[in-house]
Amino acid sequence: MSDTCIFCRIFRGEIPAEEVRRTPESLVFRDTNPHAPTHLLVIPKRHVSDLGTFVAEAPAEEIGDFLKVVGEAGRSETTGGYRVVSNEGADGGQTVHHLHFHVMGGRKMAWPPG
Ligand code: AMP
Repeated sequence: MSDTCIFCRIFRGEIPAEEVRRTPESLVFRDTNPHAPTHLLVIPKRHVSDLGTFVAEAPAEEIGDFLKVVGEAGRSETTGGYRVVSNEGADGGQTVHHLHFHVMGGRKMAWPPG
């Protein structure tokens, strides 16, 4: 965990967030700048900057458990399907450097993304 990372602070409850689900190792909460009627963020407790680092560092069981929470959030919080996005690095458009999956639904998504 990082003292300064905004998502670590949300995980610890130091910054308020609209929580949807919490497990010992992950948190699902609503994005404050939603791009869809349902726009969730799923974060691991582990402070890792991005997906590539997570899969390089974390045990397979932890990665699997996290992915399960992502899919369960999509299924339980949307009805017509959903999209999962994880931005990594400058070209990926990442702005918060604590791994997070965006789970978006509630409208028809366009393809390709910008
Ligand atoms: P990304 O640009 O992929 O790194 O996504 C970061 C996301 O975090 C953006 O969609 C922001 O709207 C969202 N975000 C930033 N700060 C907060 C916060 N305090 N609570 C909820 N969502 C946040």
